[in-house]
Amino acid sequence: MSRPNRTPVSPGSEDRAIPHWHSPDAETLDVTDGDGAYIQTADGEEYLDFIAQLYCVNAGHGNERINAAIRDQLDRIAYVSSSKHNDARSALAGRLAAVAPVDDASVFFSVSGSEANEAAMQLARSYQDAPKVLTRWRSYHGGTYGAASLTGDPSTRATVERYAATSGTARFMPPLPECFDADAPEALADQAADHLEWVIRNEGPDSIAALLTEPIGGTSGAYPAPPGYFERVRELCDEYDILLVADEVITGFGRCGDWFGIGTEGVRPDMITFAKGVTSAYVPLAGVVANGALSDHFREEGIAVGQTFAGHPLGCAAGLAAMDEYEDGLIDNVRELAPLLEDRLRELEAEHDAVADVHGRGFHWGVEFRDPATGEPFVDPMVENGDEDNPVAETREYAREHGVLFGGGRPDIQNIISPPLCVDESDIDR
Ligand code: PLP
Repeated sequence: MSRPNRTPVSPGSEDRAIPHWHSPDAETLDVTDGDGAYIQTADGEEYLDFIAQLYCVNAGHGNERINAAIRDQLDRIAYVSSSKHNDARSALAGRLAAVAPVDDASVFFSVSGSEANEAAMQLARSYQDAPKVLTRWRSYHGGTYGAASLTGDPSTRATVERYAATSGTARFMPPLPECFDADAPEALADQAADHLEWVIRNEGPDSIAALLTEPIGGTSGAYPAPPGYFERVRELCDEYDILLVADEVITGFGRCGDWFGIGTEGVRPDMITFAKGVTSAYVPLAGVVANGALSDHFREEGIAVGQTFAGHPLGCAAGLAAMDEYEDGLIDNVRELAPLLEDRLRELEAEHDAVADVHGRGFHWGVEFRDPATGEPFVDPMVENGDEDNPVAETREYAREHGVLFGGGRPDIQNIISPPLCVDESDIDR
């Protein structure tokens, strides 16, 4: 193996005056305030936050109901150990179990999306007494030692190979047109499912505990599956006795127009992992919704995966208030305005040769670029990542100069739009 590259990977490491590190693609905005879909910076600029920070501030910034719930919890008790009961925690678990499309659901709390995915995989491997997990290429499941190994994103693969646990994960191709030779969505669904079955049979069904997938691609491309695909995935999991786990860290809590993205596919997984939108990112909180058989197994076996801050009462109080907000109009707002967002994006596709495709669901969309001269991506997405000189990054920078923030999913070929669920028609038009 070659020696690691020693060049600095973080803008933070170049600026020693800022005493913390952040990720290589971090922006340099100094954000101090927020209100609804807008944020303000220290130098008085205002931005329309069309990426909800990291696809997570679903209820918008400065939501008074969530703030009040956190303050109220703080006045009563800030922290209760995860081995004890707490009213906010039990209430939130009940609310989550009621809306999640999982049979006989109950909840195991965690702190971050990465840790929720790790807990789900620990539970799956213990329950199934099998070591492997299947994940898709072009997925993102987290950055911790285990979760990074579940991630199948070419832009982080080099990092994963150097730093993360890499055993136990096998990958399959997502139902993307570029992976198959299909002339219609139905054919794409069939080919992608046939390929998955081929992978399962070659890996050995008995060795596979779970299949973990985002229902609609997240940071590595906001791509929904073709109709019928997830029904075939569910059938294959049933046939080969593999647990189906939906990673809803981005797609949950109204983002795709339903409580959970997998709900828009009409499929019931065995587990759902969640984070981000559960509290609208006001307090870190995450977890796993598991079916009855899995939670019984957990209770009987006592798997030692607890965390000090799991199910933190402040997060649970925030989560209850955020769920009230989603229920009282925000999910309806997504359903109502998603067609307008899609129409405006399709106009871009029709008007600009460089916009090759737009895809997504609800309030989670990717705008994909190609070089009009060649029909190919401007840079090779398997190699490059986040090059500031490429035209895709330049459109993000242009938008930012004009007061709108987008995200860079697969950063060299796509911009991601994932606004707070409270945006209105004028925000979308802008
Ligand atoms: N899963 C998905 C689909 C994600 O998008 C993310 C983060 O963006 C994670 C898991 C990891 O969550 P966290 O960053 O809270 O650890």
